Formats: sequence, C-alpha cells, structure tokens
Amino acid sequence: MARYLWAAPCSAVGLLLFLPALIFGGSVRFSEGVMEISLARFLRRIGRPQPPFRAIAFGHVVIGTSRASLRRLRSHERVHVRQYEQWGILFFPAYFLSSLHQLLLGRSPYWHNWFERQAYARQGGNDVARGQTAPGPLSSLRRHNRE
Ligand SMILES: [Zn+2]
Repeated sequence: MARYLWAAPCSAVGLLLFLPALIFGGSVRFSEGVMEISLARFLRRIGRPQPPFRAIAFGHVVIGTSRASLRRLRSHERVHVRQYEQWGILFFPAYFLSSLHQLLLGRSPYWHNWFERQAYARQGGNDVARGQTAPGPLSSLRRHNRE
C-alpha cells in the first residue's frame, strides 16, 4: 500500500495528462495492480497522430498507443513502475537530471539515462523496445520506444 501512496502523485499526473484521451475513447484495463490505458480508439478518432512514445509510465498508470504496445512493452514499463515506487515524486526531477547530465556529456538523454539503462537491463526478453530510435526533445516526461 505504501508503494502506491508514495507513487500516487506521479500516477495522478499521468491520469490528469491523459484524462481527455480517456474520456474521448481511451480504454482502461488493470494488470497486476497497474492501470493500463490504451489510446488506440482515441488516436483513431483524432486522425491517428503519432505520439512520441509507444508506452509511457507515470507511477502506477501506464499509457500505450494500443493494447499490443502495452503488451509488448509491459516488462519494460513495469521496471519504471518499480522505479516510481522507489523514488516517488522525486522520480520526475531525478529522471530529468539524469537526462540533462547525459546531454551535457554529449550522450543521448534517453538511451544513456540511468533509469532507461536500468529498465532495459531488467526488462524481460519479450520486450522489443531495444533497437528502436530514441526520442528527440529532452523532457521530464518519460518517453519510450518510438518506432
Ligand atoms: Zn523506458
């Protein structure tokens, strides 16, 4: 329970950010204590724009562009959920600072980010995220697995 409370502010941010999408076609499913939101129908409705992620975690809320993306990237995103449980609201500034640090070293703010490296190292073998291109703009929002 404590891990849910500790990560709750981050879950709330995810819910608020994606509330419009949820109202206008997103679908929710719970998997192992994590709320998974698929944007598939919502994205179809608004003309299929390409979001800068396939799946993204905010605390115990994981948003994916489709059920298939959520399934494919589940083990990677679960590592991020565990990170949120450890870091709580500090996850946002810590992730951002890790990206900034790597950028200042001339490295990728995504692929060299400490949290991403841990997630790729710990994810299960089913994820196919590795090898996809890194996202562009630096952001404290966690971006993932662009295709
Ligand atoms: Zn990641």
